[in-house]
Amino acid sequence: MTEVRNSLDVTDSKRFLVVLDVDSTLIENEAIELLAAEAGSLDLVAAVTERAMRGELDFAESLRERVSTLAGLPESVFDTVRSHITLTQGAQKLIATVKAQGGSVGVVSGGFHELLDPLAESLGLDFWKANRLEIKDGILTGKVLGDIVDAQAKADTLIEWAEATATPLSQTVAIGDGANDLKMMAVAGLGIAFCAKPVVQDKADVALKERDLSKALELIGL
Ligand SMILES: [Mg+2]
Repeated sequence: MTEVRNSLDVTDSKRFLVVLDVDSTLIENEAIELLAAEAGSLDLVAAVTERAMRGELDFAESLRERVSTLAGLPESVFDTVRSHITLTQGAQKLIATVKAQGGSVGVVSGGFHELLDPLAESLGLDFWKANRLEIKDGILTGKVLGDIVDAQAKADTLIEWAEATATPLSQTVAIGDGANDLKMMAVAGLGIAFCAKPVVQDKADVALKERDLSKALELIGL
């Protein structure tokens, strides 16, 4: 059963905004793990990712540690890895329905622009934000450029996109699976845990346990 502690009916409003996490939410994969598989560091990286998503590690620090294992990969790895990305069932229906009803859709990711940009463009998203990997002479250095998109950055980004679309925060929806999604879920009008870690399910307004993003539509009145 889906336990609902809060609800939102976007049909009451002219404007609404849906923001999704990417790894294990919009897509079935964890981008860092796809890259780590190419670098031969998958076991180490998957163990750290699992702990970070359960909220046991500082996200930014743990991301730097995981990205450091990618040093030396050629940038052609992005083409290889892109073909391994699987969109989560119902993602296209969710995005198309929200947009057809006049809403906006953004995704904010602790993953990487290098993989997200083509996907976001093909899905017709209104906004997207992720980390950027440092590349020198065609080779990944193992470093992340600039500030890391962590839990606070995700929440700040949702607020920024709400302002950009003149959407009241009460008419925003955040969907995610990891501990680094909890802050954006807290600032949103409705926080939906999607096949999430226990800590996330406990704190969300609603927990979806079926891997079908279109199930979020009925939770927001569409
Ligand atoms: Mg995630």
